[in-house]
Amino acid sequence: MKKINQYNFKGKRVLVRLDLNVPLNEQFEVTDTTRIDAAIPTIKKIVNDGGAAILMSHLGRPKGEPNGKFSLKHVVNVLSQKLGQEVKFVNDCIGEEVSQVAGQLDAGEVLLLENLRFHKAETEGDAGFAKKLANLAEVYVNDAFGTAHRAHASTAIVASFFEEEKLFGFVIEQELAAVDKVVQNNERPFTAIMGGAKISDKIMLIEKMLDKVDNLIIGGGMSYTFFKAMGGKVGKSLVEDDKLNLARTILDLAKEKEVNLSLPIDSVVADDFNNEAQTQLADNMEIPNGFMGLDIGPKAIEDFSELIKRSKTILWNGPVGVFEMSNFEDGTKKIAEAIAAATAEGAYSLIGGGDSAAAVNKFDLQNQVSYISTGGGALLEYLEGKTLPGIAAIEDQ
Ligand code: AMP
Repeated sequence: MKKINQYNFKGKRVLVRLDLNVPLNEQFEVTDTTRIDAAIPTIKKIVNDGGAAILMSHLGRPKGEPNGKFSLKHVVNVLSQKLGQEVKFVNDCIGEEVSQVAGQLDAGEVLLLENLRFHKAETEGDAGFAKKLANLAEVYVNDAFGTAHRAHASTAIVASFFEEEKLFGFVIEQELAAVDKVVQNNERPFTAIMGGAKISDKIMLIEKMLDKVDNLIIGGGMSYTFFKAMGGKVGKSLVEDDKLNLARTILDLAKEKEVNLSLPIDSVVADDFNNEAQTQLADNMEIPNGFMGLDIGPKAIEDFSELIKRSKTILWNGPVGVFEMSNFEDGTKKIAEAIAAATAEGAYSLIGGGDSAAAVNKFDLQNQVSYISTGGGALLEYLEGKTLPGIAAIEDQ
C-alpha cells in the first residue's frame, strides 16, 4: 500500500475526501476548527509536492438536496487562512463546470467542491456518481476517518475507479496506527475506561475489550444498570431495564476471562438532572430514593486513578459523569488528569469518541495524552474489529 509520506504528487490532480463537517453558528461561522486543522497536513503535502488538490466533504445532513445552510462555502475562508493560500470553490461537486475548473487547476492550487450530500447518490454509494467524482483526478486520497465506516460514494466506492493511485491521508494513517498500538501492540497493563450514557451503544466494544484488557473500568450512566443487575438500589439513576441480563453476562464474562472489571464504589447523586440540584454522596448499591447518580464519587476517583496510573496502555471512551455541568464534572476531570499523569510516565493513551475528546479539551489536557481520535462511530467500529468500507477500499487493492 502506498504511504503518503513516500508519495510524490507532483503534476497530479488529487481528489481528497476530507471530514470538513464542522459546527457553524447562526451567522454560518465555523465555531470549532479541529477538523479543518486536522486536514491541513495532507493538503499541504499535496500542494508542496506540486500537485493540485480537489477537496470534497460533507457538511451536516442536507438530505440529498442543495441547502445553503449546509454549503461548504462557509468553510472556504477559514480553510484559506489555515492553509495560507487561496481556496477556490465551485457550487457543485459534479457536472460540467466542476470538471472544467478542476481540469484547469495549476500545480499547487486548491479547489473545494460543494457538499457531497447535496446529491443523495453520495450516501447511496452510487457508482455512477462516484465515477464522475473519480473522473476529476488521477489520484484519490481518503483522509476522512469520521466517515470511513460508511460505504458512501466518496468514501469507498470512488476508490474502485483508481487502480493503484489511491492512499490514505495523514489523519487516517495516524488513526489506524493509534488503534493498532492500543489493540495489537500494547504494553501491559492495558486499561480501558468506558463511560457515557448507555450500555447499548457500547456493548460490542465492551465485549471486544474483555478479550484484550487487564482492567475494564465502567463509569458514567451505564454503570447503574450494572448496580441494579447486582441487586443494588439505584434511585432514579439512568438504567436500561432491558439490559440487566446483558450486564450480568458481562460481569460473568469478565470473571471467566480474568479481567478486573471495576465499577465505581460511590457517586455524586442529585435530586434532579440539573446543575442547581441538591446533591450528596452515596454508595452505588444504596442510592436513596429520588436521587440519581450524575458523577462518580471520591472513593471511585481514587480507585480508578490508581488503576490508571499503573497502566501502560489506556483507552478512554465516554465521560464518567455529566461533565457538561460543573457540579458533575469532577470525576471526568480526575480521570483525564490520571490519564495525563500516566502518559507523562510513559503510558500510551488513546482518547476516542466525541465526548471524552470534548472532555479532554475542556480540561485543557489535549497536549498531555498520546492521541485523540477524530472519529466517533468509525473509531468504535474499528476498535470492535469491524471492516470499515473506507479503509478496505484502499487497503484491499
Ligand atoms: P456517550 O455519547 O454514550 O459517550 O454519552 C455521553 C453522555 O453521557 C454525556 O453527555 C454525559 O453527560 C452522559 N452521562 C455521563 N454520565 C451520566 C450519568 N451518570 N447520567 C446521565 N448521563 C450521563
